Amino acid sequence: MPFVYSFGDGKADGNATMKPLLGGKGANLAEMTNLGLPVPPGFTITTEVCGLFFAQGGWPSGLQDEVDAALAALEGRVGKKFGDPDRPLLVSVRSGAAVSMPGMMDTILNLGLNDVTVEGLARASGDPRFAWDSYRRFVTMYGDVVLGIHYTRFHRVEEEILGTRAFNDLDSAELKSFVMRLKAVITDAGQVFPEDPREQLKHAIDAVFGSYNTHRARYYRKTHGIPETAGTAVNIQAMVFGNMGGVSGTGVGFTRNPKDGAPGVFGEWLPNAQGEEVVAGTRTPAPIREGEAGEGQSLQQAMPAIFVELDHMMRRLEAHYREMQDIEFTIEQGKLYMLQTRTGKRTALAAVRIGVDMVAEGLIDETKALSRINPKDLELVLRPVISPAAKKKVIAKGLDASPGAACGRVVFNSNEVQELYERDEPTVLVRLETSPEDIQGMTVAQGILTARGGQTSHAAVVARGMGKPCVVGCTDIHVDYGRELFYAGDTVIRKGDWITIDGGTGEVMEGKVEMLSPQSEGGYMEKLLGWADARARLQVRANADTGVDAAKALQLGARGIGLCRTEHMFFQPEALKAMRRMIIADDPQSRARALQDILPIQREMFTELFEVMRGLPVTIRLLDPPLHEFLPSRDEDVSDVAKELGIRVDALHARLEALEEANPMLGHRGVRVGVTTPEVYRMQVRAIFEAACEVARRGIAVHPEVMIPLVAMPEELARLRADTEQVAEEVIAEYGNGPEYTIGTMIELPRACVLAAEIAKHADFFSFGTNDLTQMTFGFSRDDMGKFFPDYQRLGLLPESPLSVFDTIGVGQLVQMGTERGRSTNAKLKVGVCGEHGGDPKSIEFCENIGLNYVSCSPFRVPIARVAAARAALLRTKRYWR
Ligand code: ADP
Ligand code: MG
Ligand code: MG
Repeated sequence: MPFVYSFGDGKADGNATMKPLLGGKGANLAEMTNLGLPVPPGFTITTEVCGLFFAQGGWPSGLQDEVDAALAALEGRVGKKFGDPDRPLLVSVRSGAAVSMPGMMDTILNLGLNDVTVEGLARASGDPRFAWDSYRRFVTMYGDVVLGIHYTRFHRVEEEILGTRAFNDLDSAELKSFVMRLKAVITDAGQVFPEDPREQLKHAIDAVFGSYNTHRARYYRKTHGIPETAGTAVNIQAMVFGNMGGVSGTGVGFTRNPKDGAPGVFGEWLPNAQGEEVVAGTRTPAPIREGEAGEGQSLQQAMPAIFVELDHMMRRLEAHYREMQDIEFTIEQGKLYMLQTRTGKRTALAAVRIGVDMVAEGLIDETKALSRINPKDLELVLRPVISPAAKKKVIAKGLDASPGAACGRVVFNSNEVQELYERDEPTVLVRLETSPEDIQGMTVAQGILTARGGQTSHAAVVARGMGKPCVVGCTDIHVDYGRELFYAGDTVIRKGDWITIDGGTGEVMEGKVEMLSPQSEGGYMEKLLGWADARARLQVRANADTGVDAAKALQLGARGIGLCRTEHMFFQPEALKAMRRMIIADDPQSRARALQDILPIQREMFTELFEVMRGLPVTIRLLDPPLHEFLPSRDEDVSDVAKELGIRVDALHARLEALEEANPMLGHRGVRVGVTTPEVYRMQVRAIFEAACEVARRGIAVHPEVMIPLVAMPEELARLRADTEQVAEEVIAEYGNGPEYTIGTMIELPRACVLAAEIAKHADFFSFGTNDLTQMTFGFSRDDMGKFFPDYQRLGLLPESPLSVFDTIGVGQLVQMGTERGRSTNAKLKVGVCGEHGGDPKSIEFCENIGLNYVSCSPFRVPIARVAAARAALLRTKRYWR
């Protein structure tokens, strides 16, 4: 197989399907060529060579010959010669990995210049200024990327020479002496700048391969799950010049708005500039489209014909790829060139709108639209926003780079973000501008604020990719790294102070500002969720304890309540008092009287739930925690409570002592209370059915499901089921009529999974409580795991807590076994999962694959679960897209 593939200027060896071999950039340059778009010619050295380069510690044999031949062909196509003292061919050397790693790797522009060819370029172009401007860019890039001299050393010279001026203010003589100063930096660093263009090329290619293995590139691959073996290609491409003055410039654009998904070209450009400048955030760019934010004249206004051409090409690319594109272009003296296209990164909000719009436009189908949504990212659509009613003091305003509100302590350096993150302290990272070294800090900060840079600056692009609130180009603030503070007008904000940023408006606010969950606008989310529901098999329910939660869950599309925890119903002040009397009581009559006082309170709460849910299933878990949780634990509270209950303090202490447990998690709780103090469950069951009968009588459908927690033995459930049925029938008889109901159990002990076949004989449904089941299976409690878990994590024994990432190979096997055994004796058994894992896409996929009936999660995760359920079903039935 060849090592080198050519592209551009009407003819290409490759195409878009060859990304693994040609890298994303190379394959797309070939594809754009095939589409007839204006791509400067060049050639791609394959990713395979990258592998060989690292395996052999250098160029594989034959590569030199192929590069020489490709270069000769390129010279022929362009009509210029590499190293020619009169009309030199200049090239860019561009990295291009198989999987895009934006900003991670290196590119060198204007390669082929030296002290001789620069004069030739000056003569040939008739523009010495331009020639020396290109040379100074090349020397800096070569020094930084190839020779590894830190760019700050070049920047120091830049600052000294420029003062308050910009490069475009320097004339050719000044640029020339500047280049000499840059070369002196290289010599001072003990390095040699090669004057021979072929040597430059060889080293530049090596450097691009080398950039694949930098720490930051490896970190990026690790956090994005990109295999190390993928490799990078190297693209060598004839230069076109956006820095030629006149009708020249360079820019970056998206075929749709990457922040909100609105249709139409969105992007930025700079007149008389080269490549990286728009992205680097050193000059504030102007918008492509008139009316968009930015500094200076829009491309649409400055070069209307070019704008129309660009708009047309971008539409073509999007229609061709059937996907939103992120493109890079350069205009050389009135001629437009396309330099890159790739799938555009976007916020979750934009992803939803773009997917729905593209279906309407006939570009993709509904399944495809769903496939492009990462369910986890939907959380970001439901990200907090600043409450409209909030009191806020806006101290500065920048560009709205990535929506969502974030609040945290101000930190100026990424390592400190990491430190605070480890102490659970939220932070907002404040920088002049960010660079790839900041990635780790950006990953864990709540939000990012930069003083410089535009909508396509590093900070903006990376933050959007991460779905992180971000404000950039905030020129209102003056950052002083040395003193660790920033000024915003009269306000001084020091390290550690709280600020709030709004990435949707660009506002920076002092202190903690009240936030709200956002509403999805335009009905895009609803549409997408509708498509998801039509493809999902798993039903999504919500965990909700109150009417308010239930209403929220219903609004977000829950098909029932999978877990109503009744604990809080006992904590209502009146109920708590009665509960304490019940626990303290030593005769059955006063116990019964106390419970009698709790009953109407619970009945009212159940009534509210049933009214909201209108016939959808509502699974109610009977009391789960140990009784002592209702009694005070601190001494001062004990005397208060003793007074309130009208008993002696020492009597209360005695009762407390009697209830004390060495290990409450494994103690007298759940069904065990049901067995020893049956009155409590009977009261709850009565409250449930009185509420249900009452609501049913008003003509509203009701579907209660009574759930007994912490069952380990079939005998426990048999006993409690009989009790429950007896009370339920009693109440229904009193009302003369009542709703259909079911009785089931929570499966959260390993023994229950083992004996599921027997337990299922007494159950209409199982609900796996994966939190407790995980703790019981591992044999640790979440309250104590902090003592050893960090070590387990550090040693790689358990990379993530099984309480947040479901342990499919351990606990998951118990769930599967419990389900199968349960259904073996009760074919109609309904099975679901409730708890933290119910809203996690990976866990949902597992639940789909083992054939559960439903998952239940917190209300705000319901939309995520709906999309995850659809994706899991599509994956399982192989009606999938990949
Ligand atoms: P990255 O992968 O970081 O985006 P690129 O290889 O795309 O790096 O190069 C960055 C920028 O350099 C491009 O957007 C483009 O503006 C400029 N550039 C690259 N190659 C050329 C070229 N042949 N002619 C003119 N500009 C170029
Ligand atoms: Mg780059
Ligand atoms: Mg690029």
